[in-house]
Amino acid sequence: MKYRKIIYSGFVFAIVSALICLAILFYISHSSLTKITFLDVGQGDAILISQGNNQILIDGGPDGTILLEKLGKEIPFWDRQIELIIATHPDKDHIDGLVDVLKTYQVSHFWQGKNIRDTDVFQALQRELQNSSETKVTNIFAGTKVNFPKGGELKVIYPFGDEIIEGSDDDVNLASIATTFQISGEIFYFGGDLASEKEDEFTALEEVTILKASHHGSKNSSSNFFLNELSPTDVIFSTGKENRYGHPSEETLERVENISARIFRTDEDGTISYECREKCVVVLEK
Ligand SMILES: [Zn+2]
Repeated sequence: MKYRKIIYSGFVFAIVSALICLAILFYISHSSLTKITFLDVGQGDAILISQGNNQILIDGGPDGTILLEKLGKEIPFWDRQIELIIATHPDKDHIDGLVDVLKTYQVSHFWQGKNIRDTDVFQALQRELQNSSETKVTNIFAGTKVNFPKGGELKVIYPFGDEIIEGSDDDVNLASIATTFQISGEIFYFGGDLASEKEDEFTALEEVTILKASHHGSKNSSSNFFLNELSPTDVIFSTGKENRYGHPSEETLERVENISARIFRTDEDGTISYECREKCVVVLEK
């Protein structure tokens, strides 16, 4: 009887090991895939760029529980490390979820701007960063680049210098870190919650093909000038269902329609992913 039990346990162990090996092999064979995912986190932003074991997370949305659930679907269970987090600016709908991410994952690098905010959530985030001794925190600005091992380059394009952004005491959106990500012939633009008075200065960006509408499609972002200058093929809105701000605004939607770009919205399409190999293909959750 005892002998039979040992054989049985050995059998189960062998099957489980084989399944885990198969899952890892499947994962490795798919690691040439680079995925840019606009996570459906409600009213806020959370964008994950992943390639094999390497991840960059731009913002964390307004709720840690929702963010961890969404990340769990994208990051394999054995990968407990996120290589880089970028907090574009210290508003709740961009940083609240990051507190739980720092508690759950090992985060190698954390980039933020110099502007601060006197809020509970900002202080909770700074406390968590101090507790995460393995995380290197940097005040970042234009000129910094990150390259993925199998192609793909992230570039910081704003703030232009290592400084507190003037005029942003009341409107911290103006201090949002803006980045581009180049992969498979596409250039993505992530401008946080920047308003047009800053975005319109990015005249050297005319090659952007996939644009995340800044500030969730607020009427004060994504001007006619900016959209015509860049003329992206796709525009993404990261917004919550029936949010109290009325994002995205009718004005911005109309401006995007005028340049004939495809429109995707997290409130209607759920999580939006671009799966990039030789080309990028969009995959919608709903
Ligand atoms: Zn926001």
